Amino acid sequence: MADHPNDAPETDGGAVVDERLRCRACGQVHEQARIVKLPDGREVGNYSEESRRWHEAAWVLKRYRSKRTRIEYLSAVEEKRGLQARNELREEMLRVWNWKKGAK
Ligand SMILES: [Zn+2]
Repeated sequence: MADHPNDAPETDGGAVVDERLRCRACGQVHEQARIVKLPDGREVGNYSEESRRWHEAAWVLKRYRSKRTRIEYLSAVEEKRGLQARNELREEMLRVWNWKKGAK
């Protein structure tokens, strides 16, 4: 995921914008915003929640190699961000996992 710019100007100027480009953190459409294709084929904004979640899930699977350490990570997510965030991340990890299996 792209770094979050701190002082990016508002670029939508009241024009009709592709909602997928809107930054999930601040609600603006950053100059660097663009549509990206996730490896599984979904087209999302590079600042979107979908994009963020896919990359976190892929990162967790790469960083934590055992079931035990992955569950530990999910437990930490639940503690910090709540049960829904944990379940969403877990589903996304399964999605990435299945995509990787299919991609081989
Ligand atoms: Zn932003």
